[in-house]
Amino acid sequence: MSVTGLPPYDPQNIFARILRGEIPCKRIHEDEFALAFHDINPLTPIHALVIPKGAYVSAADFHEKASDAEIAGFWRAVGHVAKSLGLDAEGYRLLSNMGGNGGQEVPHFHVHLFGGRRLGRMVPPA
Ligand code: 5GP
Repeated sequence: MSVTGLPPYDPQNIFARILRGEIPCKRIHEDEFALAFHDINPLTPIHALVIPKGAYVSAADFHEKASDAEIAGFWRAVGHVAKSLGLDAEGYRLLSNMGGNGGQEVPHFHVHLFGGRRLGRMVPPA
């Protein structure tokens, strides 16, 4: 188990394969620390994913093990992507699912960026 209760990093996960160019994506932005692309199954008019270049299973794994430069570079890229998609004026939502209760499906840390309509408040009731 990793620090997060999730299995160790699987280099065959779908986002690792996108990073290696084995699977195509609709790229929005790429730099030294992060890759951003459109979600294949968008839940809002704009639904982007931002992933770090490094091999981190989850948010907990990333924030525990990544260097300060990686963490700063990643979050700067998230802000850049939101701005480049024109979302700053009307607002948007960042979300990262973590582990089982979080509903995380792809075991490579990623942040969802939702925008393009009013999103309502927080998490729907169970
Ligand atoms: P999670 O539930 O892990 O937070 O979200 C994973 C997200 O990855 C989902 O929103 C899903 O639609 C997206 N996704 C899964 N496979 C692919 C893919 O091959 N390409 C892209 N662009 N998105 C994917």
